[in-house]
Amino acid sequence: MNPSDRKPLLDPRDAGPAPAFSRQPQQPPGLASEMRPLPDHGETSYRGSGRLQGRKALVTGGDSGIGRAAAIAYAREGADVAINYLPAEESDAREVIALIEAEGRKAVALPGDITSEAFCQSLVEQAAEALGGLDILVNNAGRQQFANHISELSSEAFDLTYKTNVYAMFWITKAAVPLMKPGAAIINTSSVQAGKPSENLLDYASTKAAIAAFSQALAKQLAPQGIRVNAVAPGPYWTPLQSSGGQPMEKVMSFGESAPLGRPGQPAEIAGIYVLLASNESSYTTGQIWCSDGGSGVF
Ligand code: NAD
Ligand code: MG
Repeated sequence: MNPSDRKPLLDPRDAGPAPAFSRQPQQPPGLASEMRPLPDHGETSYRGSGRLQGRKALVTGGDSGIGRAAAIAYAREGADVAINYLPAEESDAREVIALIEAEGRKAVALPGDITSEAFCQSLVEQAAEALGGLDILVNNAGRQQFANHISELSSEAFDLTYKTNVYAMFWITKAAVPLMKPGAAIINTSSVQAGKPSENLLDYASTKAAIAAFSQALAKQLAPQGIRVNAVAPGPYWTPLQSSGGQPMEKVMSFGESAPLGRPGQPAEIAGIYVLLASNESSYTTGQIWCSDGGSGVF
């Protein structure tokens, strides 16, 4: 082989920006386009190799962050992709729709609030109708708002976190399963918070533990139908979830500092896990929680 044909080694310490970051508060849900530095969702870097050719995927929270990275990678691997997001995130979502279409794949924009059971049911129906089926479901949308003490955590906030992170996953999955054929895959986004909860994320961390257990139980339940279910557990990833109230701003400014790699992950760095868990190559992998956290080793 000609040495110039070799794929260059990528030093994981330098594969993304390291702190310190600037102060950059946003209102939730926040926009990726407002972040500095801009997150890398694989827009210019992700190269597909036909691993999901012809698949039909629904990704919640597909406008930004980890969901956007998964949506871009799925399209580059040959899938048609529907994304859900909140109406306030239309500008981020438009960028993703354009990127999917640039691959010659079908892109379906389905804005709406997943804290409504009725919307969750119609979301799945609309996605399956527009795509002509459903092979991959990524339950990735999430709400994270820190509260330093239980006395500052309102019932409304607690309820909203559970509705967004746990109930919506249940409602969307319940609507999707009857549409799925053997070989289909469900991927839920949990978190390192499921195994190593922070004191200021009481509601959020406990939803992420619920997602992990739900995924493992559902994997056993759906194995006889040939549907695989796995969860991804990210550590610190550079997304608007964090800068829009997910963490105190001081923590955002030093985000990823305590990871052994010394920096936060960029969404593009986790997309490959979502691709593998959706593809035939992981046909014996179900009921797993795959952690990507820069080396802290929670799971
Ligand atoms: P993000 O803000 O880019 O994505 C979260 C998305 O959730 C938003 O884009 C929004 O579209 C969606 N969402 C929130 N409330 C909604 C609602 N009511 N209806 C519809 N959509 C709603 O941030 P992200 O970090 O990419 O988050 C994706 C997932 O990753 C979340 O489940 C999050 O908990 C998880 N996660 C993130 C990190 C991290 O450090 N960024 C770490 C562990 C887990
Ligand atoms: Mg968003």
